[in-house]
Amino acid sequence: MSKNVTRWSRRNFLKTTGAAGLGAIIAPPLAGLAVSPEKGSVVPTRPFGKTGANVSILSLGGMFNIASNQLLMKQALNWGVTYWDTADCYQRGSESGIGKFFSRQPDAREKIFLVSKSDARDPEGMTRLLDRSLERMKTDYIDLYFVHAVSDIDELDNRTKAWAEEAKAAGKIRFFGFSTHWNMEECMLEAARLGWIDGIMMTYNFRLMHSDDMRRAVDACVEAGIGLTAMKTMGGGQVRTDSDTELEMAGRFLKKGFTDAQAKLKAVWQNPNIASICSQMPNMTLLMSNVAAAIDKTQLSARDNALLQQYARETRSTYCSGCTAICESCVEGEAPIGDIMRSLMYCNSYNNDKLAASSFRKIPEKVRRRLTRLDYAKAESKCPQGLPIAKLIQEAKKKLET
Ligand code: SF4
Repeated sequence: MSKNVTRWSRRNFLKTTGAAGLGAIIAPPLAGLAVSPEKGSVVPTRPFGKTGANVSILSLGGMFNIASNQLLMKQALNWGVTYWDTADCYQRGSESGIGKFFSRQPDAREKIFLVSKSDARDPEGMTRLLDRSLERMKTDYIDLYFVHAVSDIDELDNRTKAWAEEAKAAGKIRFFGFSTHWNMEECMLEAARLGWIDGIMMTYNFRLMHSDDMRRAVDACVEAGIGLTAMKTMGGGQVRTDSDTELEMAGRFLKKGFTDAQAKLKAVWQNPNIASICSQMPNMTLLMSNVAAAIDKTQLSARDNALLQQYARETRSTYCSGCTAICESCVEGEAPIGDIMRSLMYCNSYNNDKLAASSFRKIPEKVRRRLTRLDYAKAESKCPQGLPIAKLIQEAKKKLET
């Protein structure tokens, strides 16, 4: 972009946004105009597939272990954020925090649509983890139980089906499904054919939702009665102000009264087939901002959506879309490219160095050591996002390996 264009664009942007200007869009979400929900308003609900359950369109995800989060859970409940998501493997006692809340407020349990997840795939391991989750959360049942982070539907088989049926019959779970961060579209299509999956939580955002593959996958799930929860809806980090598209988009959103983060949520809610968005909301500021977006009735216009899509195209090479079946099979040797890209995203887009490093260190040391010796040329040539995979792996090693 030339200097002249930049200057021209910034001037127009400032004219459009008035006194608020750039500061308003680079500040935290609460500095946006859709600040807090009106008194008495609650987050709307949508049916969750054909389960018969209605869930809040905003789901409280994340860690619930610290004292202040007890207040956050209480406030979430007051605002109608009644779909709560956790997992056995979430660090630092997330499930225990929920257990503490239910112990103190036993009446709250029946108002909450509670989700937890198992890292295990074998029935014995799943039973062990489910029992542990129930014990930690001080509850007799979990509404929806997921197998965590499925990237290939073959990870679920007839033993999984039998296990789910038994757990339902025992009253320990009401519904069963899986979460998926990688190869989401294929997993969803295959799940629709299985006929015994009640719900799926998948990576889904303004970058991914318009592809033919994702549309087909969502349609198949709707047809099969599978409830859908979107996660990773920010599609990378905060929108910057480096290009004309970003400037125009930020100015438009600001004028309408919401931030780019709120606009990204609205883009996903525009699809009525998405029952809920799971968002990690570790503090009251974020909770309030997301609740405000969920309650606010302002719709994105055709131009807003077009700008979001243009922005997605222009920043394509900064976002890994999770299609690991494409790149990982092109590398001779073990290269968990999807995991590495996710770790790097925590660091570069969310500024969460701690999470980035801990996620990167989950890759076995032996595998990490060999990463920079592998040839990624073929993987790069096939990557639909055009990611410089080899360079990014070097960056991950440098930044995240301590
Ligand atoms: S690196 Fe490219 S091919 Fe691999 S998962 Fe990411 S977007 Fe897909």
